[in-house]
Amino acid sequence: MAEYLNPTVGCEKLIKILREKGITDERVLDAFRKVPRHLFVDGAMYAQAYDDNALPIGNGQTISQPIVVAMMTEMLELKKDEKILEIGTGSGFQTAILAQFSRRVYTIERQRELGENARKRLRELGYINVVCKIGDGTCGWQQFAPFDKIIVTAGAPVVPKTLIDQLAIGGRMIIPAGDREKQELHIYDRSELGCKCRVTGDVTFVPLIGEHGW
Ligand code: SAM
Repeated sequence: MAEYLNPTVGCEKLIKILREKGITDERVLDAFRKVPRHLFVDGAMYAQAYDDNALPIGNGQTISQPIVVAMMTEMLELKKDEKILEIGTGSGFQTAILAQFSRRVYTIERQRELGENARKRLRELGYINVVCKIGDGTCGWQQFAPFDKIIVTAGAPVVPKTLIDQLAIGGRMIIPAGDREKQELHIYDRSELGCKCRVTGDVTFVPLIGEHGW
């Protein structure tokens, strides 16, 4: 059987690549086993679904590169009872990975068509702990704040204060920020004393567009 028609083979191939690139959290690797990536891309791209590449999902957007999804998920250090806010639903793949680890994932997509496709896909796949919204994620989701973890999957010019304000005490936010071509991952940890930020390696994301974005 061709590899792309056999998701189990594809998943194991991808997991091997993720291990080689430094992912060590077995829970994260196992989540990639439970979320078949080919279900989140167009049928014409099934053959590439288990390569470590970003792929087009329409509307000028991409499903993120698996190593970036794995790295950001690992950095979040998720716990089962947590409430997560994700900005940039896209295909819903990262959302489904997050949903393996948490009580509830609130996810916002600004492009209606993408957001509605992802909502339908996640519902059909049985993700009852995901709540989708179409809107400007740079404003966060005040109604359900504070969040234990926040992940932004589009690149911001500056880190929106609105999102920092919606982070719970003890919470963590990961957000790429920089210029349009290249960003750095910013990791915010909130304690009772305030927020500490550290910056890690270079990444490239599509722009975060909105009131507090580009
Ligand atoms: N994590 C997604 C996945 O696994 O398919 C990929 C996300 S894609 C790299 C970034 C997404 O952020 C795009 O779908 C884009 O439309 C969305 N986006 C950009 N600005 C946004 C905003 N202000 N609010 C919500 N979504 C936004």
